[in-house]
Amino acid sequence: MIDLIQKYVEAYGPSAYEDAIREMIIADVTPLADDVSVDALGNVIAKVKGKKNGQRVMLIAHMDEIGVMISHIDKNGFCRFMRIGGVNPQTLIGHRVRFTNGVMGVIGVDDPRSQRLPKYDDLFIDVGANSPEDCPVSIGDTAGFVRPMAQLNEHRIIAKSMDDRIGCVVLLETLKALKKPQNDVIFVFSVQEEVGTRGAGPAAFHTKPDVVIAVDVTATGDTPKGFPMDMDLGKGPAIKVRDGGMLADPRLVRLMRDQALAAELPYQMEILPFGTTDARATQVTRGGIPSGCLSIPCRYIHTPSEMIDLRDVQNGIALLTKVVSEKIELK
Ligand SMILES: [Zn+2]
Repeated sequence: MIDLIQKYVEAYGPSAYEDAIREMIIADVTPLADDVSVDALGNVIAKVKGKKNGQRVMLIAHMDEIGVMISHIDKNGFCRFMRIGGVNPQTLIGHRVRFTNGVMGVIGVDDPRSQRLPKYDDLFIDVGANSPEDCPVSIGDTAGFVRPMAQLNEHRIIAKSMDDRIGCVVLLETLKALKKPQNDVIFVFSVQEEVGTRGAGPAAFHTKPDVVIAVDVTATGDTPKGFPMDMDLGKGPAIKVRDGGMLADPRLVRLMRDQALAAELPYQMEILPFGTTDARATQVTRGGIPSGCLSIPCRYIHTPSEMIDLRDVQNGIALLTKVVSEKIELK
C-alpha cells in the first residue's frame, strides 16, 4: 500500500487540473469495477454491482489538491499568484511549485528581512526568468506544490496532498477488498473539492445514491497547543458527527459506529469546528441524500508535509468495507 500512497500523493492535480491523477485512478479501478466512466466535470465514477434489493451507496474522495495560479508577471519575470483552495501563506516561502507544463519555480518574498507573516501580495514565484518575454509560464497557468513522501517510522508518513489522496487510496483498497457486497457501491473520485466541494454535488445528482460516505482527512488535537479536539493520530479512523459545513446524518453515524463496535475496530468521533468535505455537497443535492464521512486523522493539513498514521488507514478500509458489504438500514 505504501507504493500506492506514494504514487498518489506525489501526483500532480490542483483543482480543475486533475488529469494526471485521474489517469492513474482510471487505470487502477478499471480492472476491479463493473463500470467506469468520467462525467462532464471530470469526476471518475466506478460502479460495483451488489445483490438485488440492496442500497446504492456512494463512497467519495477528492482527487484535487491545493495549488496556485499566476495572476500577473512583472517586468523582471517574477510571477504574482492567486491561491487555489486553502493555501496557508505561513508555509510558502522557499516552497517549490511545478506547473502543468512541467516548469518548476520557487516562492520568494518581497522583503526578506521582514519579521511579519507574509500576505499573498508580498509573495511571488521565481521561475528563473528575467522578463515576461522569456518567462516559460503565462497568466492563468496553474501550479501544484512539490514535496516527496517520507516514511518516518513503521506507522507514520508525511507528504503533500494526503488531503485527499489518502482518501483515494482508502477507496481503491476498499474496492479491492469487496466481495459480493449487499449493496451497489459507487466509487467517486471527485474534482474541485478544495475550491468549495464543486464536483461532488453533480456526481451525486447524476448517480442517485441512497447513502453517501465521503472519505477525507480531519485535523487532530494531539500536537503542542493544537486544536481543542479529541482526535489523535493512530487511535482509529474518525466517524464525523459535524464539521464547519454539515451535521452528518445521525442514522449513518450510528450505523458506522455500530459496525466499528461489531468488528472491534478502533474509531474516534469527529467534531471539527471548521472546514467541510464533499459530504456537505451530496447531503443537499437532489431531494437530500443522507450523508456522512469517514475521516483519516491528519496533522499539518494544507502544509507541505501532512502526517497520517497507516493504522488509521488500514482500520478505515476495514470499517468501510464492512459498512458497504452488509445490509444498510438507516434508523
Ligand atoms: Zn480534503
